[in-house]
Amino acid sequence: MATQDVRVRIGPSPTGDPHVGTAYIALFNYVFAKKHGGSLVLRVEDTDQTRSKPEWEEMLVEAMHWLGLEFDESPEKGGPFGPYRQSERGAIYREHTEQLLSNGSAYKCFCTSERLEELRRQKAQLKGPPGYDGHCRRLSDQERQGHLDAGDAYVVRLKVPHEGQTIVHDRLRGEVVFENAQVDDQVLMKSDGMPTYHLANVVDDHLMQITHVIRAEEWVSSTPKHVLLYRAFGWDEPVWVHMPLLRNSDKSKISKRKNPVSLNYYREAGFLREALLNYLGMMGWSMPDGSEKFNLEEMIKEFDFDRISLGGPIFDLQKLTWLNGLYLRDVDAKQMLMAWKESIFTEAMLDKVAPLVHERIEKLEDFIDHIGFFFNGDLIYDESATKFLLPKGREPKEMVKLFEQICEKIDGLAALSVESVEALLKEVVENTGFKNKEVFLPVRVAVTGTKASPPLYDSMAVLGKERCRRRLRHAMSHLKTL
Ligand code: GLU
Repeated sequence: MATQDVRVRIGPSPTGDPHVGTAYIALFNYVFAKKHGGSLVLRVEDTDQTRSKPEWEEMLVEAMHWLGLEFDESPEKGGPFGPYRQSERGAIYREHTEQLLSNGSAYKCFCTSERLEELRRQKAQLKGPPGYDGHCRRLSDQERQGHLDAGDAYVVRLKVPHEGQTIVHDRLRGEVVFENAQVDDQVLMKSDGMPTYHLANVVDDHLMQITHVIRAEEWVSSTPKHVLLYRAFGWDEPVWVHMPLLRNSDKSKISKRKNPVSLNYYREAGFLREALLNYLGMMGWSMPDGSEKFNLEEMIKEFDFDRISLGGPIFDLQKLTWLNGLYLRDVDAKQMLMAWKESIFTEAMLDKVAPLVHERIEKLEDFIDHIGFFFNGDLIYDESATKFLLPKGREPKEMVKLFEQICEKIDGLAALSVESVEALLKEVVENTGFKNKEVFLPVRVAVTGTKASPPLYDSMAVLGKERCRRRLRHAMSHLKTL
């Protein structure tokens, strides 16, 4: 038999800023594909239509491009197995659901949300495993027809065997055994006709001829459902490779509260792509000679799954910063100046900043004093400014909560504009019952470092999500010390 060409993919959901975890998984897929002369596919998993946004897909593609992790097939590039956006593959999923219904591997479930809620409550009380009780699996043909005639809404569920075990053969972990009794009758198709992640992911991996599924550890528990789906369709499974999850320094799963997770942050803060890729390459993997500084080519040359260690790799910003410094030393001053102009002191940024300080300066040299905060990393608050972070009569923890809410709202937006910042802050004032000045002044001081900055909405729009969020978090840690 001819050896199958290696085909790997990443399947990100465009529901937020491009994540450092996506870059990590993309890197290992890319390296593996290159090592074997295979192909890397970008498949956009945008079936959650309320949370997916095209802007986020664009940002992800742009971030991958910045990192130099190019795809062989993608929504933009096309390819022989498209479309590469799940939202455009509805007919394929419906057809495959029909196949499972007719071969008896799946069934229609008419249970109402009230019944499912009640079931969840009962199961929680009995402290048993959550999951569906199989009620509709036992319906007679007549009962089923009755529901259909009445036009009752239904979902389609996978018929998971009640007994026995499903074994996942993971390239890194060996056999991972799941008791079928613990595996839920997974919903495959929702009542609105949209597939769930599980169905769409398996159907696409098969149709796109993916040979190795290299993804994060958090999906291991879904894999028995995927294995059962492959069997239900009569397809061969891909090789499963679940990479260890990136962790915060306290070993919890990497999260935005403890680490910057958006690739936009790293780019805006002026990390070099080579340093970031190198650092991500060290997450769970190591060079045979133990060297810590290596480039993509060297990683491809030496790559081997056997060198992956499963202990949760700690994503340590300080170490990445140190490595970035080494890379900066490697370039000459002229190259550094170029990088600086490309990512920090850009024409676009200067264009946005100039009108905001135009009215405030008397000599051109005053410019720097006024614009510094737009370009700095973390701000150093001086005594005179910090007292405005905490309005009279408010507790530090109330302000922390307020800033937390603002950060969450910022996260929900693809980008900041004068209008969206205004709407966001006004909404916060309305929802919290804080007075205008109890919100606006502390936020202004937190994000600009001074009470006398250019207009707040404009300043926040120019600073952008990453700097605003980072400074609000910085202000929160300051408030916690008060
Ligand atoms: N859509 C999933 C995600 O957002 C894909 C997981 C997988 O690779 O199977 O990570």
